[in-house]
Amino acid sequence: MELSDNLKKIIKIINTKKTVCLLAPAFPVDFKYPDIIIDLKKIGFSKILELTYAAKLISIRYSKILKRLPEKQFICANCPSVVKYIENKYPQHKAKIINVASPMIIMGRYSHAEYPSYKTIFVGPCLSKKQEAIENHEVDFAITFKELQEIFDYYAEKKLFKKIDIDPKTVDFNKLYNDYTKIYPLSGAVAKTMNYKEIVEKKQVVIADGIKGIDLAIKKMEKNKNIRLLDILFCEGGCIGGPGIMSKDSLEVKKKKILDYKKECKKTPMGEHFGKFEYYKDLKLRRKL
Ligand code: SF4
Repeated sequence: MELSDNLKKIIKIINTKKTVCLLAPAFPVDFKYPDIIIDLKKIGFSKILELTYAAKLISIRYSKILKRLPEKQFICANCPSVVKYIENKYPQHKAKIINVASPMIIMGRYSHAEYPSYKTIFVGPCLSKKQEAIENHEVDFAITFKELQEIFDYYAEKKLFKKIDIDPKTVDFNKLYNDYTKIYPLSGAVAKTMNYKEIVEKKQVVIADGIKGIDLAIKKMEKNKNIRLLDILFCEGGCIGGPGIMSKDSLEVKKKKILDYKKECKKTPMGEHFGKFEYYKDLKLRRKL
């Protein structure tokens, strides 16, 4: 099989530099846990991080912003396609896009701070993250799950997998916090994880996915000034419906895979950060505007 020049370049980087894989939380839709961690190590990644730490930071920051600015309406900024869509189709609402960067960007900042000499490669279900990576310069590369599978297939065909001694019973992510934000690839996850109960009422948060859903959500927000937050994602069902996903399962089956993974992780130890949640140094959470 022949790989694209971009994937060849990424393979070269993985094999010649220290690298961090930032794995999007939609991975259980396409890959098994913990096999994915072993396979990523066998192609040469040095560290593998889940994006769920950034998701937790984001959910906490959203709550704080909504509490601090009770008169304002906000639009979630986690999805780069939503951000572009609002900027282009609804420029009158651009100022409502909350000033918090996406999980990929925040984990990129974390990774560069914690592992300064490492290259960071985001792997996820999303095509627009590629553009986001190019525009923000905070993640070195972004590829899709489909592209990761191409790399795995290439390694298998050329017999390039590294021989490493890993116990599948103990292998895990380079963890920060094993957390409820594992549901982030599902529509409505921001609202579910930001604990807004004492800040806004349920009816003041609109959850939507897909273009039609977004257009309807915008209309609702325009009509009802009491709406405080649009928790919206561009793909149907959220990131589990992203274009870089391989699975042809229904959204219900994909959702179940995410929820099963979350449940399974409750059984695994949380490592040195067990039970703790701390902000990492002075990690910046704002978007680059
Ligand atoms: S909803 Fe789709 S476009 Fe938006 S971040 Fe997720 S995969 Fe990317």
